[in-house]
Amino acid sequence: MSERRDRIVFGRPLMPRQQDFERLLDPVFRSCQLTNGGTLHDRLESVLGQETGGHVVLVSSGTMALMLALRLGGVARGGEVITTPLSFAASVQAIDWCGLVPVFADVEPAFATLCPKAVERAITPQTVAILAVHFQGIACDIAALEDIARRHKLWLVFDAAQAPDIQVSGRNICLSGDASALSLHGTKLLSTAEGGAVVVGDAAQAQALARMRNFGLEGGQMTGPGINGKMSELHAAFGLAVRPRVAAEMAARQQIRGWYDAAFEDVPQIRTLQPRPGTSASHLYYTLILPPDLRAGVIASLHAADILPRTPFPILCGPGTVYAGAVVHTTRHHAVAGDVAGQYLSLPLHGDVGRDGVARVVQAVLRGIG
Ligand SMILES: *Cc1c(COP(=O)(O)O)cnc(C)c1O
Repeated sequence: MSERRDRIVFGRPLMPRQQDFERLLDPVFRSCQLTNGGTLHDRLESVLGQETGGHVVLVSSGTMALMLALRLGGVARGGEVITTPLSFAASVQAIDWCGLVPVFADVEPAFATLCPKAVERAITPQTVAILAVHFQGIACDIAALEDIARRHKLWLVFDAAQAPDIQVSGRNICLSGDASALSLHGTKLLSTAEGGAVVVGDAAQAQALARMRNFGLEGGQMTGPGINGKMSELHAAFGLAVRPRVAAEMAARQQIRGWYDAAFEDVPQIRTLQPRPGTSASHLYYTLILPPDLRAGVIASLHAADILPRTPFPILCGPGTVYAGAVVHTTRHHAVAGDVAGQYLSLPLHGDVGRDGVARVVQAVLRGIG
């Protein structure tokens, strides 16, 4: 019998030091201001604004950020929003919950993000917006999508929940399109346990978003569309307490990427998902691209070694899903998105994996491909 080894999980929340969190909460216990734009909330908003170079509006979740980013466009209910089948459920749910109609366009084979050609083909007189997702840490073809949106006068929202850390030509990815949505959920890099943010380039738009997240109120009057999308002081305190740990965590993950890259470089059966040229590498995902049967063998081998990898969610408009009846525009006879969902396999990528953990993961992957 081999000795019992620790499980290597796919991801784990980055936690603040408990005393840092508690110290930040002291003033909250004195002032009793729990929410409605408290001091900690405003501080986190301005820190994130400096980091992204945009105007940041904190909200209660990434899903709320997507809904407010869509509503900011002033698009008519019932309009069509072109989106990707490859994402977490939240991106299509945000469209639906806003009373808009999702239309799925296929993804690019090389990067698995929304294919500009398929988007162009999906445009109808009812199209009002595009909701593109930087899937698994890979930037969309931002320039091409911005060009389409400009030519067809469509509102362009990017879901940056899986790519908050990506730089595009040296700029933060959230400065793309008309608005970007971030998630601050516990599974993401920087977290407030539950939370999110909309990033926009323009102060007036940030003000409009700030009204929307607070019931549309201004000076006690309901001045426009609104909902309760606010972030509490307790959540903001968590974000402020964990933020100083993010840089070291990113450095650790970058090192792990390098080790994985070096280990798989010369293995002919393994392709790895690398960043789109001109953009930085993800700190949230390290993804292998394997034919489905090979992937099954690798997953079995990882599980046998008590290592938990991650496969993408099934495509959002696939058979048996809520959106199975939706319109789908594909780039070839069969959808690329479906292929990708069957081929991607993401390996554990977080500071606790360490050098020994990487060696164990690599060994299990290589055993899995036989
Ligand atoms: C995590 C995630 C969301 C949802 O964020 P929440 O904060 O959990 O609402 C949205 N889109 C994508 C692509 C995500 O990965």
